[in-house]
Amino acid sequence: MADDWHAQPVTEVYGGLATGPEGLSGQEAAERLLTHGPNSLPPARGVHPVLRFLNQFNSALIYFLLASALAATVLGHYVDAGVIVAVTILNAIVGFLQEGKAERALAAIAAMISPSAQVLRDGRRRGVAVADLVPGDLVLIEAGDRVPADLRLTRASQLLIDEAILTGESVAAAKAEQPAAPAAALGERQSMAFSGTLVAAGQGSGIVTATGLRTEIGRISSLIGAVPTLTTPLLRQIDRFGRRLTVMIGLAALALFLYAVLLGGHPWAEALIAVVALAVGVVPEGLPAVMTITLAIGVQRMAARHAVVRRLPAVETIGATSVICTDKTGTLTRNEMTARHVVTAGGGLAAGGAGYAPEGGVEDAAGVDDAQALAAALPLIRAGLLCNDAVLRYVSGHWRVEGDPMEGALVTLAAKAGLEADHIRREWPRLAELPFDARHRFMATVNRGPGGEHRLLVKGAPEQLLDLCLEEAGPDGAPRPIDRAFWQAEIERRAAEGERVLGFCAGPADAAKALTVDGIGPGLRFLGLVGFIDPPRPEAVAAIAECRSAGIAVKMITGDHAATAGAIARQLGLDSAGRVMTGAELDAIPDAALAEAVAPVAVFARTSPEHKLRIVRALQAQGAIVAMTGDGVNDAPSLKQADVGIAMGHKGTEAAKEAAQIVLLDDNFASIVAAVHEGRTVYDNIRKVIAWTLPTNGGEALAVIAAILLGFTMPMSAVQILWINLATTVTLGLVLAFEPPEPGVMARRPRDPAAGLLSAFMLWRVVFVSVLFLAGSLGVFFAALAWDGDLALARTLVVNLIVVFEVFYLFNIRYLHGGSITLRGLFGTPAVLAGLGGVILAQAGFTYLPVMQDLFGTRPVGLVDGLMVIGAGVALMLVLEVEKYVLRRYRLFGQG
Ligand code: ADP
Ligand code: MG
Repeated sequence: MADDWHAQPVTEVYGGLATGPEGLSGQEAAERLLTHGPNSLPPARGVHPVLRFLNQFNSALIYFLLASALAATVLGHYVDAGVIVAVTILNAIVGFLQEGKAERALAAIAAMISPSAQVLRDGRRRGVAVADLVPGDLVLIEAGDRVPADLRLTRASQLLIDEAILTGESVAAAKAEQPAAPAAALGERQSMAFSGTLVAAGQGSGIVTATGLRTEIGRISSLIGAVPTLTTPLLRQIDRFGRRLTVMIGLAALALFLYAVLLGGHPWAEALIAVVALAVGVVPEGLPAVMTITLAIGVQRMAARHAVVRRLPAVETIGATSVICTDKTGTLTRNEMTARHVVTAGGGLAAGGAGYAPEGGVEDAAGVDDAQALAAALPLIRAGLLCNDAVLRYVSGHWRVEGDPMEGALVTLAAKAGLEADHIRREWPRLAELPFDARHRFMATVNRGPGGEHRLLVKGAPEQLLDLCLEEAGPDGAPRPIDRAFWQAEIERRAAEGERVLGFCAGPADAAKALTVDGIGPGLRFLGLVGFIDPPRPEAVAAIAECRSAGIAVKMITGDHAATAGAIARQLGLDSAGRVMTGAELDAIPDAALAEAVAPVAVFARTSPEHKLRIVRALQAQGAIVAMTGDGVNDAPSLKQADVGIAMGHKGTEAAKEAAQIVLLDDNFASIVAAVHEGRTVYDNIRKVIAWTLPTNGGEALAVIAAILLGFTMPMSAVQILWINLATTVTLGLVLAFEPPEPGVMARRPRDPAAGLLSAFMLWRVVFVSVLFLAGSLGVFFAALAWDGDLALARTLVVNLIVVFEVFYLFNIRYLHGGSITLRGLFGTPAVLAGLGGVILAQAGFTYLPVMQDLFGTRPVGLVDGLMVIGAGVALMLVLEVEKYVLRRYRLFGQG
């Protein structure tokens, strides 16, 4: 194939690629896909499984364990060494499997937001997966898109493309249809749009000239799409904590060893192995793996609720959100628009019917077919059809919109008024256009009428349009001076009903002049208004109420009219005060005063994307954790600035999705709140994992330290300490990652983002529970010694007691914020039950199997002793439940 498409005229490109201005047929595209292969680059190859497995050993905690195993071997304690190595290997296997699972899950979730492209196939516009594009396809691009393949542009309207990834040039390149010089460098090929570059502004279309590896980007880098990394600030914090803890444990162990040998008079070899076992028991080697699993489960749960996490840290941050800034249209409302009212100087008309079905008529206010009013409205309705990129399609029993829903509603309106879209659009071909942009809030086209005249048609925010007009179309269509007061009143009236109001105007067009924002008006003729209804999403009402109970402020930030926004906010129960701040008012407030001005306001109207950025900054200045939604190219800065940027999966541009941390598959506000719910759960579970791990490790250590310091016989042998570690790490240690949300997760205030994981409550818990473990194990130890004087049996009982305590404490910690002795609390999740089953089996083997008795020096435990151990566990549970109740009751450590 030729590779000088950039230098050829469009007609030759059509010929060369056997295609045309109507694109390919679906069948031709399918055949080409077979010969050319999918339009994708091979994914970056992941790390080899063997390396990934070995990587599990690459942590300070594990080095410590391995060094300990070495020491045990040197000392001839082969069982100890074997158990330590078994712990590390088991830990690595769990980490390896879970990490693999997490990575596959993340990759699957990432695929849920794989991009699609707009193409013409069989002469019709439709969305196809980017991977299915073939050479010859006619692709439509607009601001915010990633160019899906290398394209020879056939149309470029104000098209600017950011080609930094290809050329390093940071200024967006202006594009045009005219062929470039054959020798032009990539950056100078203005007739091409290259795969992977970002459309910064404008619209265009082009013929696919190369796909996949044959694109320019494919040639320079065959590796795109990084493997998701499983790390977050919290994981790094825990990692640092783990390393510091290891050093501390090492130093403490050394001190203990010196004490035992020098002051306690223990033989050094025995002391060393005991201290090593102790240190190994305390090191929380399983913690990193459990954290990863917890986060990965959070990501999966969020995806199941239509919130796709693109950057893992968002899983944590979203749970701390204190303000959600959201769009109105499509997020709080359904974005299923129906044009309800048409207002012209010739009178008002109401359209019947529902949805996009072109059924129902247009009537006047009295409900009669008013031929005169309809005739007066036809130029407006026709302008609505022409200054419009949407098409309606009848798919499996439903009328659907391809394109902007409001524009779709205008096509439906035209059909109700008897205008057929295809016919009118053919009769009035479009010569130029100025795409809609949230900054100027209108769209304009130039069309050639049947008589050869050129007409400029503009639709947009009505106040904006009124400023462009000096005259209006009278009842008979003849121009007359504009009556601004009348139109203002009509706009207010419709908007106060919650309708989205759009204005229309028209004028002569100078075909020779390019269409620019500044070049439009004044001197246009105002045609009238259309009012659309867009009902609130019912689930948004519930979600807003949930935010209120969760202490999260909700702010609606919309480009729509203040009165419309206020009315919708009332319907949603968002704002009772009815205070609406407009973009113009925001502009009048200096940055210094903004934070205070913005805080009490729930509704912002007629804002532009720059306002969003200012609002986020102002809220953040007050210490808020802000989640912000967005969909357009210009929303990228505020999405990046927000603590959690959330892009719309449906109507969002590729630029917005890439800037966001979370993408909503259903564009629904309720899904944001669901994500907050899951985010809070993840954080709770991480705290539970830590609150369980640290004191259970600490408790067994205290018992041994006490023995060394006080000089009595060790309540456990070194191998037994190691056994506890082995038996509980992969059973009990993992299960808290799978905890479902506690009841009332959304009835609490957002957590303080500045508070560390090791809060005062956590420290208290570690100390308190460790002491209870100490008391329990020493109590059982001395009771058993006094009872029948068998050290081996006493130690077996101690080991079993510690494991039983760990089990009961696990059930206690499953509810940080409520009581655990409930029906729901007693049964537990499948993970809890599996962990419990595993640990019971392990302990039974440890206690009763002759092999294990030889290895670990255990004795079979009788019924009475066994019941005593379990009874002690029940007692522990009761003590901890009382403690939890007291902390809650008196709000100690902020546990409410
Ligand atoms: P929202 O916050 O409701 O999504 P937008 O920024 O999309 O608001 O739109 C702001 C205003 O711009 C709308 O109220 C409407 O007047 C105008 N507008 C929106 N879409 C279009 C369009 N496709 N063509 C012309 N004007 C539009
Ligand atoms: Mg919008």
